[in-house]
Amino acid sequence: MLGQPVAERVRAQVARDVADLGNVGLATILVGDDPASEVYIGHKHKAAAEAGIRAVDKRLTGATSQDELVALIGELNADDGIDGVLVQLPLPPQIDPAAAATAIDPAKDVDGVNPVNAGLLYLGRPSLVPATPLGIMQLLDEHDVRVEGADAVVIGRSDIVGKPIAHLLLQRHATVTICHSRTRDLMQHTSRADVLVAAVGVPGMVTREMVKRNATVIDVGITRTDAGLVGDVDPSVSDIAGAMTPVPRGVGPLTIAMLLANTVRAARLKRAGTEL
Ligand code: NDP
Repeated sequence: MLGQPVAERVRAQVARDVADLGNVGLATILVGDDPASEVYIGHKHKAAAEAGIRAVDKRLTGATSQDELVALIGELNADDGIDGVLVQLPLPPQIDPAAAATAIDPAKDVDGVNPVNAGLLYLGRPSLVPATPLGIMQLLDEHDVRVEGADAVVIGRSDIVGKPIAHLLLQRHATVTICHSRTRDLMQHTSRADVLVAAVGVPGMVTREMVKRNATVIDVGITRTDAGLVGDVDPSVSDIAGAMTPVPRGVGPLTIAMLLANTVRAARLKRAGTEL
């Protein structure tokens, strides 16, 4: 299950939507000089430019205070030319990521991190949803994976991947189990999953014995090693899985595509005067 072809289709649709809408603006904020974050921001800007989205690259030093960051977010919230605001994580220790997320206008919150959007997702109401889980749903749909009635097991409960993908699967009528670091007997859960999502960040932690034959396995994990990027799922799982996403080229490309799709969605909401 490659993410790239699906991501390309999403990005092509975004480019058509942007052409229809006219001026669409995305602002990213990078605090500090974390090299991996700089790479991610670079990818996002390149993809935005290719789709015709005007991307504004705001950079703050690693010594920036929380108040200064919140003030910049406030300026972007008030800027009519900006449809989406994204704060790249991780943030330096003096800044609480929750404070940054709360400061973003929910209607411009293209990463789906503001509590209003998280709450709407919990309630199953339309909202801006984090990009990675949205991308996973897109991938499942394009591959006609049956979600309704399926046993879905999610390993990981972060606010940007584990919890939102669990809610999206639940909305689509899967029977969802969320596992995490305190789960007793992880294999007991994973081995009955029709759809297994691993979002942990521990290379190769999902092994063959843990997976049901013909299951759909979505590997969100990305760990940088000397051998390159490695996922949470051992490659040998592909022998028994019905379908599986690789790392790299699996979920990763979809994350950026869905960020752009969220920016278009935010632009549409703004033009329609709809409040989240
Ligand atoms: P977090 O570190 O925020 O969350 C990891 C989760 O894994 C936690 O809920 C943790 O449990 C759980 N966990 C840790 N160890 C175990 C274990 N031994 N058994 C079961 N559960 C465990 O990570 P993220 O959700 O932000 O990211 C997860 C992975 O996905 C990372 O590798 C990240 O790089 C990657 N990622 C990839 C993206 C993409 O575009 N492909 C986008 C976003 C993330 P607990 O809550 O109890 O601590």
